[in-house]
Amino acid sequence: MVDFTLTDEQQALREMAHDFAEKEMRPVAWEYDKDGTWPQDIIEKAWELGLMNTHIPEEYGGAGASYFDGALIEEELSWGCSGIQTSLGCNGLATAPVVYAASEELKKEYLGRLTEAPLLASFCLTEPEAGSDVASMRTTAVKQGDKYVINGSKCFITNGGYANWYTVYAKTDKEAGHRGISAFIVPRDAGVVVDKKEDKLGQRASNTATISFSDVEIPAENLIGEENKGFKIAMATLDRTRPGVASMAVGIARAAMEFAVNYSKERVQFGVPIAMHQGIQFMIADMASEIEAARLLAWKSAVMLDNGERNTLVSSFAKRFAADTAMKVATDAVQVYGGYGFIKEYPVEKLFRDAKIMQLYEGTSQIQRLVIARETLLPRRVEEPAAV
Ligand SMILES: Cc1cc2nc3c(=O)[nH]c(=O)nc-3n(C[C@H](O)[C@H](O)[C@H](O)COP(=O)(O)OP(=O)(O)OC[C@H]3O[C@@H](n4cnc5c(N)ncnc54)[C@H](O)[C@@H]3O)c2cc1C
Repeated sequence: MVDFTLTDEQQALREMAHDFAEKEMRPVAWEYDKDGTWPQDIIEKAWELGLMNTHIPEEYGGAGASYFDGALIEEELSWGCSGIQTSLGCNGLATAPVVYAASEELKKEYLGRLTEAPLLASFCLTEPEAGSDVASMRTTAVKQGDKYVINGSKCFITNGGYANWYTVYAKTDKEAGHRGISAFIVPRDAGVVVDKKEDKLGQRASNTATISFSDVEIPAENLIGEENKGFKIAMATLDRTRPGVASMAVGIARAAMEFAVNYSKERVQFGVPIAMHQGIQFMIADMASEIEAARLLAWKSAVMLDNGERNTLVSSFAKRFAADTAMKVATDAVQVYGGYGFIKEYPVEKLFRDAKIMQLYEGTSQIQRLVIARETLLPRRVEEPAAV
């Protein structure tokens, strides 16, 4: 039987995350957005409460929470401020390849660092010349004795300026396209250089940086999984993180809808609250139904992971639909506010800017459609396990 009722534990978790979003994030969200303030205080509080590192297994000090529980948390925290949540949630992205494929020693050391102290890790795939086309990356890792030497540059790295360690993808075979990529753990103190902090349209409280490696030496044991299997590890990572990103988009959309609903009941034009005009009601109706549909897709893609099923298709459904929904709902929320929606003093202006990134990072909406088309035209075996 399919039952969408949350258990008492899930309800309590959701309420805890909502409470944190309401009391700790909302009061500073618009202020932190204005100056791009780094939310160190909130990171420390969220870490203390166990709202970070939820997917790290218990044996490495994490909560070992399900992907579904993670989705509940991510929607609430993103409702609070998706910029701050991007920084809170990034450890999930950086650690997914480690949990998926790293050696026991690497897991103990690097997952342990994040659960023992409020430290951060970053996921480094994107390069200036290699965004959607991951295989064209130029960063190299050359094996020299018992070390790898890494050279190259990565851009748009979330928390790049603050990370203690980095999951880095690099070419170990330059001629082999996506089959020549390997994944590594690179500690910051191995010589990672932070070149630049980006000044962004939205999610301004999250840190987005360009980082570079110039003859950075790491032990050969820092290879995650097998050499030249990095592309597979990266794709498996995105299957695992897209349900959470979809939930974040739902959180933004929900926040925008709530503001629009409240405003439409207060703003009077033509002698009645604008909520009385059918044109406004229809926008609200579309927001409510699309948010519900986006949440159900996000939940399904998370539950499939929890059941050990391959969720590539459904996680792309979820990420694509939820991201496009967040952008549409935030755009319509600005419309409901009229000219005031365009003014920074009013809350939906920030949500409109924040929503845009959901269609860009962790695979653009076009790339999600490519995945969906490929999986639909050439379906793969559904029984293929999601975890190794
Ligand atoms: C705030 C922020 C945080 C980020 N965080 C991280 C991070 O932590 N780690 C990380 O590795 N990366 C991160 N990224 C990078 C992000 O994942 C990339 O920006 C994204 O994958 C797109 O790559 P690109 O920007 O190079 O765009 P491009 O790949 O150059 O795409 C440009 C346009 O062309 C379209 N396009 C490209 N190829 C095709 C195609 N085959 N068919 C149809 N359309 C296509 C795209 O959809 C897009 O509209 C972040 C980016 C931002 C802005």
